[in-house]
Amino acid sequence: MSDAIELSVVIPVFNEEENILPMYERLRAALDDLVRGLEIIYVDDGSRDGSWAAIEELATKDQRVRGISFARNFGHQAAVTAGVDHAQGEAVVLIDADLQDPPEVIPELIARWREGYDVVYAQRKKRQGESLFKKLTAALFYRLLHRITDVSIPVDTGDFRLMGPRALAAFRALPERNRFIRGMVSWIGFRQVAVPYERHARAAGETKYPFRKMLRFALDAITSFSFLPLRLSTFLGLGVSVFAFLYIIVVLILKFMGISWPGYTSLMASILFLGGVQLVMIGMLGEYLARVFDEVKRRPLYLVGNSTSKKMDVLPPQRD
Ligand code: UDP
Ligand code: MG
Repeated sequence: MSDAIELSVVIPVFNEEENILPMYERLRAALDDLVRGLEIIYVDDGSRDGSWAAIEELATKDQRVRGISFARNFGHQAAVTAGVDHAQGEAVVLIDADLQDPPEVIPELIARWREGYDVVYAQRKKRQGESLFKKLTAALFYRLLHRITDVSIPVDTGDFRLMGPRALAAFRALPERNRFIRGMVSWIGFRQVAVPYERHARAAGETKYPFRKMLRFALDAITSFSFLPLRLSTFLGLGVSVFAFLYIIVVLILKFMGISWPGYTSLMASILFLGGVQLVMIGMLGEYLARVFDEVKRRPLYLVGNSTSKKMDVLPPQRD
């Protein structure tokens, strides 16, 4: 038997101690007989609970389990990227640690890959156990994103997916720091296909995506894949200018006809309105500018503080 690894499963972990072992067991049940060489990579994104201890223990029991631990919390997308950077498998599956995405779907992903697809993404048909607010904002967000981006990013799709060798090579070369991975994988192209599934409730613990992080994530998605917000100020500016020009003519004509009136209300209304619009537009510019600054600084995407293998790279691989 060759010791080539056919599949690596990458699992980002942030305070998921109760989920480490159940995830491992369900992965084994689903994949043991199906995959020639299996590798399970847990990426501990600066957890403060017993997650790392649980990962280390698993790694001593099963050679196929590997763990990487970050120097601090660098975020979900950085953790996924680190897992892909370190994966040795021919194909890689990305899956959340909380068992919301059932490992039992992975065989279906593998089947489509073996048919010749480069990316097989799991698409949610149903979401269980999440707040109405989260479901509603997610549904709206994915549809808005779909409309305003140049890349066709499928709706209701998370990071739960399989990437084959060509897609992996392309993904590993993408250098950006503000990462919206599901969009980046769509951008890659090749042959992609969806597999529908039902998303379950979290097995244990709470969501690690509070509203603040969700908002940041949504802004990363929009700024990474659309220039529409920047263009919006041009369109609005043009519209307001045309209106202003016409209004100036009206005011002048009235003035020559000797009609004038105290203008407090209209002045206040236009000053407040335009002031608000200008601030919003400057804020949008700021969102892009901050990200450009962040990219230009070229700090590493993550730092590794600990690893279950002897060889450990603190820094991510050079991408360009
Ligand atoms: N996660 C992470 N770093 C973070 C936040 C989340 O590695 O800063 C992991 C988390 O442990 C889980 C996955 O990313 O495996 C998705 O997070 P979560 O389930 O909390 O998000 P939700 O499903 O509620 O959107
Ligand atoms: Mg989750």
